[in-house]
Order: sequence, then C-alpha cells, then structure tokens
Amino acid sequence: MSTPPLTGDLSPAEFRTAAHAAIEWIAEYLESSGQYPVRSRVRPGDIREALPPSPPVRGEPLEAMLRDFISTIVPGITHWNHPAFFAYFANSGAYPGILGELLAAGLNANGMLWITSPAVTELEQVTLDWLRQLMGLGDGWFGEITDTASVSTFYALAAARERTGLDVRSKGMAARSDLPRLRVYCSEHAHSSIDKAVIALGLGHDNLVKIATDTQFRLRADALEAALAADVAAGYRPMAVVPCVGTTGMTSIDPVPEVVRTARRFGCWVHVDAAYAGVAAIVPELRYVLDGVDGADSLVVNPHKWLFTPMDCSVLYTRDPQSLKQAFALLPEYLVTATTSETVNLMDYGIQLGRRFRSLKLWMVLRAYGRDGLAERIRHQCELAREFAGMVHFEGGWELMAPVTLSLVCFRRVPPGADEAAIAGLNARIMERVNARGAVYLSHTKLGEQYTLRLAIGNIRTDRQHIALAWRELRAAAAEIEGGA
Ligand code: PLP
Repeated sequence: MSTPPLTGDLSPAEFRTAAHAAIEWIAEYLESSGQYPVRSRVRPGDIREALPPSPPVRGEPLEAMLRDFISTIVPGITHWNHPAFFAYFANSGAYPGILGELLAAGLNANGMLWITSPAVTELEQVTLDWLRQLMGLGDGWFGEITDTASVSTFYALAAARERTGLDVRSKGMAARSDLPRLRVYCSEHAHSSIDKAVIALGLGHDNLVKIATDTQFRLRADALEAALAADVAAGYRPMAVVPCVGTTGMTSIDPVPEVVRTARRFGCWVHVDAAYAGVAAIVPELRYVLDGVDGADSLVVNPHKWLFTPMDCSVLYTRDPQSLKQAFALLPEYLVTATTSETVNLMDYGIQLGRRFRSLKLWMVLRAYGRDGLAERIRHQCELAREFAGMVHFEGGWELMAPVTLSLVCFRRVPPGADEAAIAGLNARIMERVNARGAVYLSHTKLGEQYTLRLAIGNIRTDRQHIALAWRELRAAAAEIEGGA
C-alpha cells in the first residue's frame, strides 16, 4: 500500500504548470527589465513587514508563491539584469546561463566526490580548460569553481601559506617561536577581499603591505622590491604578492611580469586577482591584460562578473594544486571510495565538501556564444565605455579621473572654482539624484582623496542608448542641483 498524499504534495502536472509560468515570467522580465527602476525603491524593513512573521502551517499552492514573488519580492530587487545598471562591476545573467542554473537545480547533484556525480567534476575541469584556452593561457593550470573571488583568493593564500613549509596546517600559528611573521603584498588599490583573506588566515591585517602605485594607479614594482627587501631585513617572511588585473576602483592593470620577477626572487607565491578583467583576454587585442600571468602561481577570474554567467561563478586557477590540496585535503572514512586515488575529488581543493553544479551554466554560456560571440560582446562594451568617456571629455565642467582601460569610466563634475569638498558634495548629490530617479544606477569611489563617479558597463543588454541615457540623466541632475533645485 502506498503512502497517502502528504500535505503540500505536488503532482508532476502541477509542477509543469507552475514551471512554465515561472519561465514565462522570467522571459518577460528579461525582455522588459529596462522598464523597472534599476535600484530598488523600498525602505529598510519594507519587505520584511510585507511578509508573514511565521511560516504557514499548511502547504500553499505554487501560484500563490509566484503571485507574492511578483508583488512583494520583485519590488525589493535592485535589477542587476537592467541594461542601465552601471554600478559596482555590472553583470548579467544571459539566457544560456539561466538555463544551466535551472537544469542544475533540477538535477540537484552534489559533486563533492568524483563518484557522487562524475559529470560535475569532469565538466568543471573541461569547461575551465576551455576558459583557460579562451583567455590564451598556457597549459598546466588546474581550475576549480568557487562561489566568489573572495573565496578563491582565500584558497590561493591558504595554499601559499602551506607552501612556506612552516606546516601551519598541523601546528597552527599561535605561540610558535619558530614562526616568522608572514607578509602579503598588494597595491593600495587592491580589493578588500585580499584584506579579508589575510585576516581570515590569521596572518594579521597589519601584515598586508599596501604598495604605492604610479600615476596610472598601477602597483609600482620598484616600491614592491623596496618593501620586500626592507621586510626581509627586518625579519619578516614575505609569503605572497597579489597583483590585480582590473582594480575595482579604476580598472588599472598592475605590471604582472615585473611583479612575478620580483616576487620570485623573494620566494613569494604570486596570486593574480583578475576577478573582473581577466576575461577581457578572450578578445585578441586585449589578450595583453594577462601578460605574465603564466608565470604566476594562481589566478582568479569571475565569469559571474563579465562573462554573462549568472551569480555565482568564480574560477580559481593554480599551477600548484598540490599546495592547495596540502592546505585542505582530508579523507575521513565515510568519504573513501573505490576511485579515491585515481580521480580528482574536488572536496580536496577547498573548505567546502558539497559542491553544486556551477560549471553547467558556464559551459552553456561558452557554447552559446563561442569565442567570437564572447569577444564581440566584451569588445563592444569597451567601445561603449570609450564613447561615454568621449562625452565626458568634450563637455566643459566634467573630467575623466582615470584612463579608460576596459569597460569602466571614472569621472566627475567639476564646476569652475569649486574646492575638493564642494566637488565631493556635488557629485555625491548628483549620483544620489540619478540613482533615486531609477532610470540608471551608478556607484562611486575615491581616487586618492578625490570623490569619483563610476560608470561600469558589463550587462549583456547594455547598448548605445543606455549610455546616452546615463549621460542625459547626469547632466540633468547636475543642472538641477547647480540651479538650486
Ligand atoms: N577582486 C576584484 C578586483 C573585485 O572587483 C571584486 C569585486 O568586485 C572582488 C575581487 C570580489 O569579488 P567577489 O564578490 O566575487 O568576492
């Protein structure tokens, strides 16, 4: 006798109906994402208040959830899929990637071991090898997918720490008189994920040395050399250097070949943070962004930033997977399988045991667009950035704040005679006014002490009209504020 239906049971037919409705909604949403206010207009607590404080006792129909999703949840979404999303590093979930996510959810496979879903491990390895080839890197890189660049960098520095031979894995770092103070080096414009990795690895935030940059915001190799030499003389042990290809603030590109040469002389691991810009190397004329990276020990690139792959998908490559394994591999009896010794088991290369099937969406993106389609899109976005920079450059009272290396433009309004404080205040107001209006969404940073607006292009649906819209919005906001409105 079979079990009687349980509360909330769904028939396959009900699932089909609800799934079709959800796909219809997604398709319509993506076609019309430009109609939404880019930045959510809710106030803190609004969404929470609109939701029941306690869970339902009886199961509810899927249609009710879809209705509430549309009426209650979507207003609390800031639309990263909007073609005029220009804040942070803009991204996009393209159709093939969305399908990959859907299929992965359908399979719900866990690739913790090779045997727990051989395709999860092997597709990840093949897809990452394709991506390596697309970016023009040499052979000999081992790749794995993580959720974010922050985690990829944490893993890379954990491997670097293990390679020091100080056996931190077994002995820890506390109360050890034999342990020199380990140091990590990056530019003053490096991303805060480097700081967090250093903190989380117990190296001590004070041991992250920020190196000065040149007039183009690139790490100065001579300053790195001087810092390394001074630290060795003072008894520190340099552990790793993290150059960045495409810094968050202004997409400057550190001189990786020189950094690698210098770091090698001091026995350091080199981890390249190319979270946003690494994929630009798919474009033949931009391949130079990864010059010298083949000489590094590890590299992070995020397909979920500029390769049209839905969140989340970060890729960590290393030339020294043994050190990564040395940092993380553990084999309790319940995870021993007949194929343990002959297969890659991705649980050995990081903290996480469970592993979702992220490579499926990346594989589908790479196949759907192919090398040429990806390159065309990235190239086009760089052209749009140059066009926008041209508009800023040729208009009196506005200035560019950094070279436009890729698809990010740093700029600001500079009324004649205004001092730094007034310029900062004015630009903050311009940005807030534009963002509140909802047609476009920008973010800001500080370059040195100078308040700077950022227009980051990365959405697959962004085109010329969205750039023009951003420029109209910015000029209108500036005119209103300066006119006293
Ligand atoms: N590195 C760089 C250069 C970044 O710009 C970012 C985020 O924008 C990160 C690392 C962190 O990325 P994630 O959010 O994947 O941790």
